Amino acid sequence: MHQDGQEVFRIIHPEDAASVAASIEESARKLTPWQHQARMRLASGDYHWFESDSVPERQADGSVLWYGQFNDIQPFKDLEFSLRESEAEFSFQAGFQKLIARLSSDFISRGFGNIDLSINRVLEAIGQFFEVDRAYLYRFSEKRTEMTNTHEWSRDGVESLIDTQQQVPIDTFAWWHRQVELMIRENRVVFIEDVAALPDEAGPEKALLTEQGVCSMFCVPVRTRGMVSGFFGVDSLSHRVWRTDQADLLIIVSGLLSGALERHRLEEELLNQSIRDPLTGLHNRRYFYPRLDEMIALWQREQQPFALAMFDIDHFKAINDTQGHLAGDYVLREFTGILLEQTRAMDVVARYGGEEFVVAFSATDPQAATAQVSRIIEKVRGYDFLFDGNKISVTVSAGVAGTGGEGAGNLTPEQLIGDADDRLYEAKQSGRDCFADISGPSRI
Ligand code: GH3
Ligand code: MG
Ligand code: MG
Repeated sequence: MHQDGQEVFRIIHPEDAASVAASIEESARKLTPWQHQARMRLASGDYHWFESDSVPERQADGSVLWYGQFNDIQPFKDLEFSLRESEAEFSFQAGFQKLIARLSSDFISRGFGNIDLSINRVLEAIGQFFEVDRAYLYRFSEKRTEMTNTHEWSRDGVESLIDTQQQVPIDTFAWWHRQVELMIRENRVVFIEDVAALPDEAGPEKALLTEQGVCSMFCVPVRTRGMVSGFFGVDSLSHRVWRTDQADLLIIVSGLLSGALERHRLEEELLNQSIRDPLTGLHNRRYFYPRLDEMIALWQREQQPFALAMFDIDHFKAINDTQGHLAGDYVLREFTGILLEQTRAMDVVARYGGEEFVVAFSATDPQAATAQVSRIIEKVRGYDFLFDGNKISVTVSAGVAGTGGEGAGNLTPEQLIGDADDRLYEAKQSGRDCFADISGPSRI
């Protein structure tokens, strides 16, 4: 083929012109075959990749002529490009799998009580992996009328929004409200590729997101108890294109978070079951003993006093026998209410056994505690226990022990409970509806 060089340069892609010129010059200088790849314009106006395959020959006048051809190598370029892309995708996927494996084992090894830390680490790792600017977790309220941002990671220099996103009413934004409904009912993701291109009906959402600098966002529902209970999402402050495989990976992340939240919920429920009494909702003695240990330690370390009172409902068996077991249960629940009302949040109230209750009065010496115990006994005496229209007369006795008098070194929960129980017995012996402490029974 004999072609004017200028002719060729007119159809070469401008970006490739310099390298074509350089390669031709080199071929001419060294008289080596000219083999070079460049994009050339077709008659249709599209560019295709061509490869020159020609041999230079010096002419008598000193100029150089090339004999050869241009081959259209576009199909190979397409293949090469898609191979490179799938290679990149593969290493992205492999990196993601490694990350998920690491994050899952983090959840397991950290165990119960550290879920917040683990979630924060997931958000950070995922945020960095996907090169977004913010990653967050929201929970819906019980009735799904509000949403609260519970965890958030934001890139350095990117404003954190968590404080402004507490108990946000969902129905303030109509468009968003509909997206949430779809998330809840159909487990759909909410994907905004370009905030600027949101539909007109999403005007308020667009204004808010624009104010927050968000360009693109992706939210995936999170499920607990088999129901959508919130969502995991990421924000990008600059425009970005999401490949479908990246979207799928975000769904895997939300699965990881759902699994962790569900496990945490079950563990919490189990823990609650093991330390709470279902009838009254009070803690049981399994919970009570360690709290007593803590109060003993505080007394030994800082001489902070405390007192322990053991209450027992008088002739409770007779209530059951005459009014029925349900009436007995009712009395137990009402008495619980009185105990909670007459104690402070720092005190520990527990159901010790059938109709026996314990209260550990924190930062209170036993002397001062007897005043509170008296008040409780009086409250019960004056309280209207009404079950099925019948008034039930109820009284209660108590035994009080604690830090007063005893040596600092040898207090144990068992010994304190033993003392309180002995004094409770004394109170019963002296006629019930009263308490006894270290100095014996006292009538109120
Ligand atoms: P005292 O004045 O000496 O304490 O007499 P009491 O009748 O209260 O004591 P006793 O220990 O003889 O009876 C306690 C009763 O409490 C026996 C048991 O059946 C009943 N009881 C234990 N747990 C429950 C409960 O959860 N609900 C009801 N209704 N009764 C319970
Ligand atoms: Mg009893
Ligand atoms: Mg009793």
